[in-house]
Amino acid sequence: MDNIYEYTKIRDNIWQIEEDNSVCCTLVKGSEMAVLIDTGYGVRNLREFVEKNITTPYIVINSHGHPDHIGGNHWFDTVYSLKQEWDVIKYFEENKTKVYEEREIQIGQHISLGDLNIEIVSLVGHTCGSIGVLIREEGILVAGDALNEGLWLFNYGSLSMGKLYKSIKATMELEFSTYLCGHSTKEYKKEKLISHIKNIENLKIDNCTKQNTIGFETYCSKYEDDNGKSEIIFTIDKVD
Ligand SMILES: [Zn+2]
Repeated sequence: MDNIYEYTKIRDNIWQIEEDNSVCCTLVKGSEMAVLIDTGYGVRNLREFVEKNITTPYIVINSHGHPDHIGGNHWFDTVYSLKQEWDVIKYFEENKTKVYEEREIQIGQHISLGDLNIEIVSLVGHTCGSIGVLIREEGILVAGDALNEGLWLFNYGSLSMGKLYKSIKATMELEFSTYLCGHSTKEYKKEKLISHIKNIENLKIDNCTKQNTIGFETYCSKYEDDNGKSEIIFTIDKVD
């Protein structure tokens, strides 16, 4: 199978690696160590691609347990994630035999990559154990699906709207200026998160569009202002 991945250089040392125009993994290349955040669907040999493009040791982290972010875990020996997410990972791996070692990473954990330092931060909502990777020197937050412009709040392991709201408010307090998402190669300004906050504050179920999203009966709440666009797609049980 063709092993070529599309990738976008966000910085010389930060790449969004895109799989089939659909999902992104992020590669952060420090002077002494690299980090790969997420593994996509895993249909191609992501390990070979990563190892071709770095010269240092590296670790692999899952931002959360959805199948389009953990699907390539099997290419690697060890993958780190938050313990609260292990149940979600297990659910979406559909009890396949685990061929890699799952290791725990913790909120607040700092990891030195040499010239770059990263910190693991909580981004719960999208799932109960969603995490982000804050790249201090670059002021960038790698957010997985936790802050997507179209934010999904349904399916196994997702939290309530109230918890998502608190989580995004707390994220606003973190020190970063831009963020990356799991389904885009764009770098977004932190202020864009205000549109998610306003969306939730103004949310009325009667104004939402009813739709079907991957087999779930969902509602979509849309909001847009100068900060940007927000769409939150949720099942009715998430409203509180
Ligand atoms: Zn997801």
